[in-house]
Amino acid sequence: MQNTTATTLAVLVSEGLIDSADVDALKEVAEKYAIAAPRHLIDLIDQSATNDPIAMQIIPSEAELKTSPDERPDPIGDHTFSPVKGLVHRYPDRVLLKVHSACAVYCRFCFRREMVGPSGDAMDETDITAALAYIGDRPNISEVILTGGDPLVLSPQRLTKLLDALDQVDHVQVVRFHTRLPVAAPDRITNELVNVLSKPRATVYVAVHSNHARELSDDAVAACNRLARAGIPLVGQTVLLKGVNDTADSLAALFRAMVRARITPYYLHHPDLAPGTNHFRVPIEAGQALMKHLRGQVSGLALPTYMLDIPGGYGKVPIGPSYLKTTDHGLTLVEDVNGETHRYPPSEDDPA
Ligand SMILES: *Cc1c(COP(=O)(O)O)cnc(C)c1O
Ligand code: SF4
Repeated sequence: MQNTTATTLAVLVSEGLIDSADVDALKEVAEKYAIAAPRHLIDLIDQSATNDPIAMQIIPSEAELKTSPDERPDPIGDHTFSPVKGLVHRYPDRVLLKVHSACAVYCRFCFRREMVGPSGDAMDETDITAALAYIGDRPNISEVILTGGDPLVLSPQRLTKLLDALDQVDHVQVVRFHTRLPVAAPDRITNELVNVLSKPRATVYVAVHSNHARELSDDAVAACNRLARAGIPLVGQTVLLKGVNDTADSLAALFRAMVRARITPYYLHHPDLAPGTNHFRVPIEAGQALMKHLRGQVSGLALPTYMLDIPGGYGKVPIGPSYLKTTDHGLTLVEDVNGETHRYPPSEDDPA
């Protein structure tokens, strides 16, 4: 079983990760949503724990069959803003490209879970040509973001071809990869791949998706270091997940581990309303309270922005917490990290 990715319920049973008695109930889940539990992540699971934070993210559960009324197949409105197949254009200066739909790991909370999978839709040559023409025609587009499916799963040859083509478009300054590969399968961050990513004229950024400190194993950190040492800036993306990382200690450990691995935490995403993910969601107020607790306790380098992607395609916005308020009398009050409020600017009778 070395180095293999578990993609079926049968293999997960043989690994002791699901009970054979649960297989029947999980068949429906497996038919709807792809399974991929890579060896590296399986090895990080503490099998004696009931709700292991790594297992919860990669092992299918019956809860995925429960769709709440708020949930929708296209939670962030990708389709609404897709002028060309595989391309999403919602903000003036940047576009998303979803070149293919395969990932090294299929996360049970994935916001694009209705679209990703080994047999999902991929852009063919014609689609890629159309997307490049769309970008080429729009000088405002300075950044191209390659995203889920996991773009680093593509072969070095295909990535080279794509990056070469993007380099032909003078106004593309930055190419950003969103990936889970460094934590899901660190061995796949090969020197060959790192070379491909360090060659382009455009500046390449890598956004590493990680949700738990334990994912940043020695191998994962080594993979991140291979990228960073090649001059590729790394930023971190995390999804706030109930039972996985919804405590201040867990988030602090994760964000500190990211900084240690040369990854600057960028966004903490409130989970999108993807079908069958309700069991992963905490209230926004709980997320704000966590961020508030971390501010002042943890290095500013280790604090991402808490973000919500507004359902329907209205885009991402920071959702606090906020430290400022205005009173009915028009006074500005600012809260410190201990929860005490102060007038700003200070009034004459305030203590110095
Ligand atoms: C998330 C997203 C981006 C990237 O947003 P940033 O705030 O720059 O990270 C760009 N386009 C679309 C359509 C997105 O959903
Ligand atoms: S790696 Fe990203 S796109 Fe792929 S399943 Fe996980 S969250 Fe979804």
